[in-house]
Amino acid sequence: MKRVGAHVSTAGGVENAPLQATSIGAKAFALFTKNQRQWKAPKLTTSSIDAFRKNCQDGGFKAEHILPHDSYLINLGSPDPDKLQRAREAFIEEMQRAEELGLLLLNFHPGSHLKEIPEDRCLQLIAESINMALDATKTVTAVIENTAGQGTNLGNRFEQLASLIEQVDNKTRVAVCLDTCHLFASGYDLQTTAAIDSTFSEFDRIVGLRYLKAMHLNDAMQPLGSRIDRHASIGKGTIGMDAFTYIMNRPAFEEIPLILETPDSAEWQKEISLLYSLER
Ligand SMILES: [Zn+2]
Ligand SMILES: [Zn+2]
Repeated sequence: MKRVGAHVSTAGGVENAPLQATSIGAKAFALFTKNQRQWKAPKLTTSSIDAFRKNCQDGGFKAEHILPHDSYLINLGSPDPDKLQRAREAFIEEMQRAEELGLLLLNFHPGSHLKEIPEDRCLQLIAESINMALDATKTVTAVIENTAGQGTNLGNRFEQLASLIEQVDNKTRVAVCLDTCHLFASGYDLQTTAAIDSTFSEFDRIVGLRYLKAMHLNDAMQPLGSRIDRHASIGKGTIGMDAFTYIMNRPAFEEIPLILETPDSAEWQKEISLLYSLER
């Protein structure tokens, strides 16, 4: 089964995320387990954790269909030792929060070199950060998201994702989330079935489809290779419908969270129905 959902709100508490997801017909969801623009967060209460687990069970959401996203402040490849330390501590806390909620995945952006260190050194720091977080936790998989390559963000090339995985000691707890808007912005064509097929073949060759544990389904506002991260609603951007038809009909995308991060949350229910209507 395809597990289409959206990055839902946790207003009122994390326990509301599965309820939100159910209300829009989602079969997967993403969430922030804390305010994504702050470093510190109050500890999750037992009642909130219990309610979250119960609401997930009632909604039919298993841990592998739920994709928490870490804070935007965290740069796991920071060239500044103090900032790197802070990022690593915050990342471990995010992993621990996911574990407290009974979750198995944590989605994050690799990091930025900020033009202060070479790319390879930055990738090495990011991989070290992942290794430290996996050592400090037991069950959660670190899910690296490909980026649009905006600014000095790494993770826009499949070779960079492969290099990170290669440097992670525990290969059973590292995975990839491919964002369609980021793919397209970073120059991977998705506009025709042939182009999409060649993009995913390249991913399989360089990284390996077995590492694909999640997708973000977003259309793009900018043309191919723009390196600008602007999401558009499904079918209303520059990628077009062939990419989404392809994803909805290939076994590689079964039972992994396929998450909308499109700009208009009022449209999510319609976008989810639209995506399911593409199944043949
Ligand atoms: Zn992201
Ligand atoms: Zn994304």
